[in-house]
Amino acid sequence: MLTIGVDVGGTSVRAGVVDQHGEILETNRVPTPSGGPELNAAIAGTVRALSDRYPVVGVGLAVAGFVSEDRRVVRFAPHLAWRHVAVADELAERLGLPVVLEHDANAAAIAEHRFGAAAGARVAALVAIGTGIGAALVIDGQVFRGARGVAPELGHLRVVPDGRQCSCGKRGCLERYCSGTALAATAAELLRGSSEPSALRELAEPTGVDVANAAGAGDPLARRAVDDLARWLGEGLALVADVYDPEVVVIAGGVSASAHLYLDAAREHYAAMITGAGHRPLADVVVAHHGDPAAMIGAATLAREHVLHVPKASSGG
Ligand SMILES: [Zn+2]
Repeated sequence: MLTIGVDVGGTSVRAGVVDQHGEILETNRVPTPSGGPELNAAIAGTVRALSDRYPVVGVGLAVAGFVSEDRRVVRFAPHLAWRHVAVADELAERLGLPVVLEHDANAAAIAEHRFGAAAGARVAALVAIGTGIGAALVIDGQVFRGARGVAPELGHLRVVPDGRQCSCGKRGCLERYCSGTALAATAAELLRGSSEPSALRELAEPTGVDVANAAGAGDPLARRAVDDLARWLGEGLALVADVYDPEVVVIAGGVSASAHLYLDAAREHYAAMITGAGHRPLADVVVAHHGDPAAMIGAATLAREHVLHVPKASSGG
């Protein structure tokens, strides 16, 4: 049984035909239009280009934004034109196929739970570290989304009172200290605070990727910025473990490409920071298997389970 997963991002709309094992057969991509009606048309176009040639039975959309608890309406997506739009019903009518919506971090977590790093876990968390932090929780095979569809907002837990300003309006949110953006901000602070030599001084405005690359090459100042991220990731993991006690935490997102630079240190901070440290089992902290296509695979999988009315799928069957 084939379904299509669509990752609706701020820069591109990417669709893929996915089989029941989570394998992608073919993909298609267009730039994300700025208007709402144009966005719906672009999604329908990318889906049709694939559904004309494959016998697909449903479509899942992974959206970077707030989705209603019945998963039919996009309430708000900061980088997309939708504001309270019944996206699932509009596209289902246009395409003549069942359509389901899901938050992109939740969709990625489903891909990892059904076919990846969290396979078989009863309680699994996903922490996607990129520009900010995306987080998701899978309990007994189902996405936990809270009563109103917005949980868990791990990246916006305040960890530093009166700390760095966050785009959400608060100060001191975890993602201001643990993200690609945070890595750049921490390095900038270290550069301003000393005259220590660093390869980063040759760059006008080092990005998180620049800092990770310099740290990987042994630059001591960049290394300290990465160590700072590791510490805050450990704090975040401890918060997740204290609230949800997961078996496994999957680290995903663009910054997970540099996990070899910080994951061991983050695990140590996490193990030291949890309540009852030393006297309770720790969650496995592992890097995601599926990388960038995870949200597409997860959205397609949710569409397949929706069509099959699978109440609690827990295997790739
Ligand atoms: Zn925030």
